[in-house]
Amino acid sequence: MPSYTKIIEGILGMLFPSLCPVCGRPSDELATSPICGVCWANMSRLPANVCGVCSKPLQVEGITKCGDCYAEKPFYSTIRAYARFSGAMKEAIHLFKFSGVRRLARPLAELFKTIEIPEADLIVPVPLTKKRLTARGFNQSLLLAKAISDFTRIPLSYDTLLKVKETPHQTTLRGAERVKSLRNAFRSAVSVKGKRIAVVDDVMTTGATINECARALIKAGARSVFGIVAARTVLE
Ligand SMILES: [Zn+2]
Ligand SMILES: [Zn+2]
Repeated sequence: MPSYTKIIEGILGMLFPSLCPVCGRPSDELATSPICGVCWANMSRLPANVCGVCSKPLQVEGITKCGDCYAEKPFYSTIRAYARFSGAMKEAIHLFKFSGVRRLARPLAELFKTIEIPEADLIVPVPLTKKRLTARGFNQSLLLAKAISDFTRIPLSYDTLLKVKETPHQTTLRGAERVKSLRNAFRSAVSVKGKRIAVVDDVMTTGATINECARALIKAGARSVFGIVAARTVLE
């Protein structure tokens, strides 16, 4: 039978884990933060020169949009992304999303305190289908959206946008297939006439998901839609 000391240590360990779940190093900061300061500091930020629409890093100076966004204007006006989906950010999002470390929502959201977010009337998370939500138990984008809503004071709505069609994991599909699979996957349940809406997601790859959410919201009357994502995949 374990001693009382062991039990108390176990409980304290759960309350104040002392090893950073991302890098495995011990840190005093873990009593107040889910990952250590070194890992937060090592998040690989996007470069200053990104596409003003889809946030893809631009290789050429003096332009404001990437070729894709020139060729076809998306339904969203812009996407604000904090970091590259790599290193500590990738670890943090995997822990948040797949290991259910929900306390990561707040620090991830608070990264956006350092980024200018356009004005909005409503924040909505990228929704999951009922089936996916039941399987995962929570919607990581909703937790993130709620934490962003808390400090921006932009009202949150979790039932404005619905996902009505199951789609394969986007990482398994290529560009055109990705777009096709998402078509008609989202629907706005209510009128959002004249509203400026921020759509929140944890990660973006091509922006196809946010674009389909924007399409549904604009169809339901939204004046404008922009995206907020913690991380963006950047192909090297
Ligand atoms: Zn760490
Ligand atoms: Zn672009």
